[in-house]
Amino acid sequence: MRAEIRIVSIEATILDLPTIRPHTLSMVTMSRQSMTIVRVRCSDGIDGLGEGTTIGGLAYGPESPEGMKLTIDEYIAPLLLGRDPTRVQATMDLVRKAVKGNHFAKCAVESALLDCQARRLGVSMSELLGGRRREKLPVAWTLASGDTAKDIEEAQALLDRRRHKDFKLKIGVKSIKEDIRHVAAIRKALPDMASVRVDVNMAWREREARNAIAALTDAGCVLVEQPVCGVAPLARLTRGSPIAMMADEVLVGPESALEAVTAHAADVFSIKIEQAGGLFAAAKVVAIAETAGIGIYGGTMLEGPIGTIAAAQLMAGVKDLQWGTEFFGPLLLTEEILATPLDYSDFELTIPNGPGLGIELDEDRMAFFVRGRVRKTISIAG
Ligand SMILES: [Mg+2]
Repeated sequence: MRAEIRIVSIEATILDLPTIRPHTLSMVTMSRQSMTIVRVRCSDGIDGLGEGTTIGGLAYGPESPEGMKLTIDEYIAPLLLGRDPTRVQATMDLVRKAVKGNHFAKCAVESALLDCQARRLGVSMSELLGGRRREKLPVAWTLASGDTAKDIEEAQALLDRRRHKDFKLKIGVKSIKEDIRHVAAIRKALPDMASVRVDVNMAWREREARNAIAALTDAGCVLVEQPVCGVAPLARLTRGSPIAMMADEVLVGPESALEAVTAHAADVFSIKIEQAGGLFAAAKVVAIAETAGIGIYGGTMLEGPIGTIAAAQLMAGVKDLQWGTEFFGPLLLTEEILATPLDYSDFELTIPNGPGLGIELDEDRMAFFVRGRVRKTISIAG
């Protein structure tokens, strides 16, 4: 009989890391990234890591780094302390029963439990998620400086360094006319080997999206991501679109994926482990997409290295990854928190193959960026 192994601690910490440049999306401009890092410790001496990260605090979705920490500290940790970390699915069932919603917080905890169990078994996390089919993932880059000339310069430098050749342009802040001009100028400036896609983050209305998609097609754009909100409008646009339509924000777990498939809402799914509610839930979204003949794309919440590699471990097992991934989150940060940096080269990310996530933190660097390390004081005059 195996010795009983228990969860002895679950710790959630918020890290604030600066970004290499302002990152402008239709709903927010980011200049730093805040991530909730979860560390699970078990009685057999095994530790595991997970990450919960959002885009621009609460600007993108209903969870914030602070909210995740509170959910984990007050609700999830008390429930899981003393439980069996070797049965990840059964342990997460307890969490799902007691905590509704909170997909990002659940994903961070589930990732940490999977990291623990894979380390315990001496295998890569991808082996617990169905097995690995590849060692590298193509990685697109997002051009979001807010300035056409700067974006072109950035893309050309990345092509020269053979780091990225697929570019996603964040649009939807400016007028449609300006956006189309921006996309066309970038497409024209880049060589044929590069691809240009756009993400509108739901900023358009259906009618204007219809006209804009036709203009984007003429400009040489190959994919439009979530131009409008809602499954039904997206489905109507997909029906009439000559270029691929990708769903992102509407995909919040397996049920919504099934709904999107039933409505023929998109040609491609951007699959995000946090938005789906965890790695197992995201694996179900992958299975639904594969079964329905929908293209798969590894989406990001601009996670740091922990969340990015958790997602990479899942995408390692996807059979047809025609649209690649956008797992560039760690490259948007000015600071390294891993002992060994990730390998982004020849347009691909190498998926670490050590036990668990296959990454180790630089604990000193990590401690330096923990929120609250330097206490700010306010002196009130008079
Ligand atoms: Mg998106």
